[in-house]
Amino acid sequence: MRTLKIVCPFLSFLLLCGCGDTGLTINDSTKQEIGETTQTLAMEDTYLKSVQYPQTSIAEIDDKVKQVVQTYEDNFMMQVEAAASQQVPEFNITYESYVKDDRYVSILLLIYEKIEDTQTYCETMVFDNKDKKWMTLEDVVSMDSDVLSYLSREAISYFKERYPGECSNDAFRTHTSAAIQNFTNFILRKDGIVFYYDNNTIFDHDTTYSISYDELKPYTAIRNEASKAYVPYDDILNEPTKHIDPDKPMVALTFDDGPSKRYTRSILDALKEYNASATFFVLGSNAERAPDLLQRMVMEGNEIGNHTYSHKQLTTLSKEHIEEEIIATQESIYGITHTYPKLIRPPYGSKNDNVLECANGKRIVTWTLDTRDWQHKDSNTIVRNVCDTVKNGDIILMHDLYASSAQAAVILIPRLQEMGYQLVTVSELYTYYGQP
Ligand code: ZN
Repeated sequence: MRTLKIVCPFLSFLLLCGCGDTGLTINDSTKQEIGETTQTLAMEDTYLKSVQYPQTSIAEIDDKVKQVVQTYEDNFMMQVEAAASQQVPEFNITYESYVKDDRYVSILLLIYEKIEDTQTYCETMVFDNKDKKWMTLEDVVSMDSDVLSYLSREAISYFKERYPGECSNDAFRTHTSAAIQNFTNFILRKDGIVFYYDNNTIFDHDTTYSISYDELKPYTAIRNEASKAYVPYDDILNEPTKHIDPDKPMVALTFDDGPSKRYTRSILDALKEYNASATFFVLGSNAERAPDLLQRMVMEGNEIGNHTYSHKQLTTLSKEHIEEEIIATQESIYGITHTYPKLIRPPYGSKNDNVLECANGKRIVTWTLDTRDWQHKDSNTIVRNVCDTVKNGDIILMHDLYASSAQAAVILIPRLQEMGYQLVTVSELYTYYGQP
């Protein structure tokens, strides 16, 4: 008879479920269940940077996440200074965050840097918000059992099935053996544990291995949870009737990198108040985090465009990877709005033949007026830049990532109308002006 060291007593789990308030605010998102996104962007001549990480209001988690992000960023900036590569170095972080049983908070940071070569890393952290401690595998499964042999056996058959040609070398055998260090990088999802492996451990690419709590039943007290219902789609997407005068000047305001729970709403409010439209080039990762905002965009006559899933510079990716970035975002947006975007704006405006091919009939949209709002972060400067240079047919680039950009948009919407411009979506602009 196996003795189980039960770390999460089932009884306290039941009590916890009954008593409700655990201080965790859980989002309606499949991959970002907890936290608000902190997001920064830089499009310098010497490097490109797009960083997203969660802040959860649990101090231990927030401090650790910030520290990990900072370490990678510092390391990247040091390499940028030393780099002599022809390509502009790029740094990208996206994340996923999960909550299990209102108690276990898991954060997965996906780090991508491209200097001479591409490197990807994943960092996982699991925090027990009830006992206020970081968790290791020993806290999840009983080490008194033969759980490591079991995990190893299951991992080997899991990978052999998926990557039959890549499983006969020493690296594979070493990194799937029944050693604890092969199972340290994991997160707890609703239905099971997911283990992560960086490239050049098991394979020369990143990989994951997941196992459900049901399968792990002899070794753990953690149980599968029924998955939460997705935000309901309530068939109310009747776009308002619009009156566009083809003989009057028009411009398209565009907002990239969102939606942001903090700033997008005020832009939508102003658009609605002045009966104006804009185009939001959303990231697939952010869309899933704010489905209500996406539905509102469509309902109020705005357009949603595809800005890829994780904001990597597409021109440096393989075709397969470009397609993944585009299709995952198309599907995220369709899942929420029942409409596929017709427009793609590649991150940093970077495009090449591969990008055009992978767009597969969707229009690639850049811009004609760059506010550089991510750099100025001052609403007056942004408003002045636009008002001084705007002309008929312009596509104006902004980001709904910063308070200053949202404030500028709120000023610009009535101001541009006073100047005689109709504020239309990018597709509407194309209808009257063709490809600028
Ligand atoms: Zn962007």
